[in-house]
Amino acid sequence: MTGKTMNIHEIITKKRDGLELLPAEIDFVIQGHTRGAIPDYQMSALLMAMFINGLDNKETSALARSMTLSGKVLDLSSVRFSKIDKHSTGGVGDGTSLVIAPLCACCGIAVPMMSGRSLGHTGGTLDKLESIPGFNVNLDEARYKKLLKDIGVAMIGQTSEAAPADRKLYAIRDVTATVDSIPLIAASIMSKKIAEGSEGIVLDVKTGNGAFMRDIKSARELAKMMLKIGKANGLKMRALITDMNQPLGLAVGNALEVKQAINVMRGGGPEDFVELCLELSARMLVLGEIEKTVPCAKKLLKESLLSGKALEKFRRIIELQGGDARVVDNPGRYLPESGQKEDIYSEKNGFVSSFDTKAIGLAAVNLGAGRITKEDRIDHSAGFILHKKIGDRVSKGEPLAAMFYNTGRDANEMHRMFKNAVDITASKSRIPRLIYEEL
Ligand code: URA
Repeated sequence: MTGKTMNIHEIITKKRDGLELLPAEIDFVIQGHTRGAIPDYQMSALLMAMFINGLDNKETSALARSMTLSGKVLDLSSVRFSKIDKHSTGGVGDGTSLVIAPLCACCGIAVPMMSGRSLGHTGGTLDKLESIPGFNVNLDEARYKKLLKDIGVAMIGQTSEAAPADRKLYAIRDVTATVDSIPLIAASIMSKKIAEGSEGIVLDVKTGNGAFMRDIKSARELAKMMLKIGKANGLKMRALITDMNQPLGLAVGNALEVKQAINVMRGGGPEDFVELCLELSARMLVLGEIEKTVPCAKKLLKESLLSGKALEKFRRIIELQGGDARVVDNPGRYLPESGQKEDIYSEKNGFVSSFDTKAIGLAAVNLGAGRITKEDRIDHSAGFILHKKIGDRVSKGEPLAAMFYNTGRDANEMHRMFKNAVDITASKSRIPRLIYEEL
């Protein structure tokens, strides 16, 4: 097909029949959909065909390139620090970006962070940030650059200028069961990361029953694909494959995760969450040439967490992005709180041996923490606080978690869903490692 004769119907048919798409065909679709010439229903059909029949390496690189070039690649040469970001492939309770962005910005690098919203059963940094009253993730290019120059960090979403294709595709994939696909995730993440103007990226590729990649092999394949696209675009890249067989930390839900992040920046917080923040941040400082080794970088990062510097940086981000910075001093008062809180009790004695982490993410979505249709409004206060993690002893009648919601949700069903997602056994089982591999 030439440019003149290309049409979306034939491209959908080709992919439906398992044929390889040409870079020009992929570009035709992406640019057409971004400017509104191709409707969402045809894009949804093509995404499903891509999901089912896959894309090879050439098609995936072409998709990432077209998605990047759907808008501007932001030029951050006027920002004098090394510009390093991190991105997670999506998990449950994974609010590490809320800590990592301010923390790394205190340690000498700039963090130009372009994130996404909640996707499928996983949470999204933008929705978490928007639980802070007034917080604006839609900065224009001039404001984005000013923040990076002035405070070394900005936390934004895809815009109509940068990565607009991903902004539209992301919202469609969220509600059409087309998220957990290696090529679609790789192109989505890398188009944002290239467009935001970073020089280096640390990827957190999640694996386990709460991740889009359930086994190590597919997580490794996704990591390798993203490393390849990043390096081909001149970025310095690192990837960690990390565990998602239980929620990270103890909070699942937008405002609940912001509250937990503030606690971490006060020197508290759950051990696994803090450890992952430090490991990812340390690689960012090494990529940014602030420190030579991960252990040295971790030492510097710990000092910034304990001294309160990271929290002060978070306060500045909130102030300069229009949010109510009083949440930093009094999150309980200024973050949205749900009308209802219900404890979920254990029905037996034993040890928590596993979680169905995806089910917990889906229960949180159903309570309002994520979207079921594109138009849904998030309930920022909804979610769960876990009291137990894998390996913890539990007694009959002891609370496993607290559920937060507002009236109008099917609380009984979500209560049941959470309870069924926790496996309690007589003997203690192995606690999953936090980090499996580094690439
Ligand atoms: N994060 C993204 O930005 N995109 C995906 O597709 C999945 C996780």
